[in-house]
Formats: sequence, C-alpha cells, structure tokens
Amino acid sequence: MAAKHQSVADTLADVTARRPVLEPVLRAFEPLLSAGDALAGKLAKTVREAGLRLPELQWDRAQQGVSLLAGVSLTGAAGPMRQAAEELLPLLTTIEAVAPHAEALRAFFLRPADADDTRDALAEAMVAGRSIESIASDGGVDPEVLAFVTGFVLSPVLHAMVANALPEDGEAPWDKDGAWQQGYCPVCGAFPTIAWLDKPLLDEKNAYLAGGGGKKHLHCSQCGAGWKFLRGACPSCGKEASGTMEMLREAEAARGERLDWCTKCNTYCPTVDLREREAVPNLDALALGMMHLDMVAARKKLRPLRPSFWNMY
Ligand SMILES: [Zn+2]
Ligand SMILES: [Zn+2]
Repeated sequence: MAAKHQSVADTLADVTARRPVLEPVLRAFEPLLSAGDALAGKLAKTVREAGLRLPELQWDRAQQGVSLLAGVSLTGAAGPMRQAAEELLPLLTTIEAVAPHAEALRAFFLRPADADDTRDALAEAMVAGRSIESIASDGGVDPEVLAFVTGFVLSPVLHAMVANALPEDGEAPWDKDGAWQQGYCPVCGAFPTIAWLDKPLLDEKNAYLAGGGGKKHLHCSQCGAGWKFLRGACPSCGKEASGTMEMLREAEAARGERLDWCTKCNTYCPTVDLREREAVPNLDALALGMMHLDMVAARKKLRPLRPSFWNMY
C-alpha cells in the first residue's frame, strides 16, 4: 500500500507539535505554502493551453548536464503567472518588506497578457539565473522584491509543467537508466532545497522486486521535480570520496530529519529519511519546518545549497 501523503498544513502541524517554538513562523507562512501547492494543480490546464510544456529528455544533453528548460522559451507564462499572482499577491503583500511595493507589484503582475510580455522574459531570466534588473526597472518594481515575489508566482507554473510531463505511474524520464547525474535540477537547473531517502519498496506480487529503501532523491522547490542522486556525493561540488558528506542531527525526536553537509565545500542540504516516518511529508513545508537546523548550520558557517526565504540572511 502506498504511504499517505501529507498536506502542507498536516506537515507543519506535525512540526509544531514537536517544536512549538517555530509555531509563529510556520503559521505565518502556511497560507502562502498551501496556496502555492494548490495552485500547481489548478494551473495544469491553463499551462497546457498556454503551450507551456517540457521538451522531451535527450540522453546526450542530459548526460552533459543540460537541464530541460535551459534555453527554452517560456512564452505564454504571463497568463498562468497572472493567475498565480491573483491568489498569491494578497498573501505576499502582507510581508513587511513587500507591503510598500504592493501597488507596483499588482500593476506588474495583474495586467492583461500581451505580445512580447515582460513576464515571459522574467520567467526565462529567473530559470536561467540571469539578472532581472532591466525588467524590474522597466516595470517600476524594486528588483529584489520582484525576484522574491517572482519566486513564489513562477513556482506553481513550473510545478504544473513538471506534473503534466510526468508519467502516471513509473519513473520520471530523468531517472531512467541514470540519465541525470547532477546535483542541480534536471528540469530548471536550480539546486535542491531538501533531499529524501526513500522507504523500502513493497511489492506484494513479487518478493524479488522488494527493495530495501534508503536511496537518495533530491527535491527542487522551484519546479517540484525530484531526482535520484548518489548518497555519498555532494550535490554542490560533486565530490564523492568517502568522508565527504557528514550528517548533523538532533539527539531526539528527529523523525529522520537531518542536514547532510559537505566537508569539502561547506554547503548543506536538509534531508529526511522517510524510513523513519509513517506518512510522506510535503517536502517544501518540511524544508521550512527544519529551519532550526538552518540556524545550527549558520553557526557552523555552512551555506545552504539553495537559499530559501527563511535562511537567506
Ligand atoms: Zn527544478
Ligand atoms: Zn561539496
């Protein structure tokens, strides 16, 4: 039987029960995470109709470490981004640093889509990791605020593209035959926000197919893709000699939660061992719920593999 998948709210409630000190922060961000999660499902059709789809995986390019969306046009993203912004801006503009920019953000994101839309260009620049300065100044929005808000508005659009491309059952194309070997996302090129070790696979029909579990997967919060990765290797610098990766965890009630960090380049990634849990948590919510470990890492002078809004500063 498949393990139960927890919602954002259930995942955060679980964390709060064990770490009450985090409750105010988790409660503050829960509506935003829940809305983003729901939007990914709602946008499936809009995204398809806008002509946004992932290209087919090409073995050679995957082996060379070229992510699927590298250099791909995101024309048509403006419509679904607008739809996402309609739901997310009211939540995002309650954040103190964003509130003064509310009017400029609404004017930028909620206008009707047009030909040669700057929101398409913005989506492409975010995925490519290019500067968005000129788009921000043309749009009359502060560049840092625009980047922060676009992270939330674009993510459900990319999630919908990934979900539309995944087979109902079976492996993602990038996991087939070890097509993808990199520590960054096979779809959008971002570094993962969290890693997970899988549960033992139970196959009732064929005992020989039962696996022991414990294989490592990385999860991209930007687009929602997950991919297999070598357990002993560093997703950032690629080193894989024994002793490269160390583990940092609380003594008690860890429920499989820990940080895996690299002794060579000092980056870390939160990791959850699902063999130590009943249900499968919402990974984006759990990454937020593990912020107490981000603080421990910061004291050890470690850097997050992918900075998130709660560990950026
Ligand atoms: Zn991604
Ligand atoms: Zn490293």
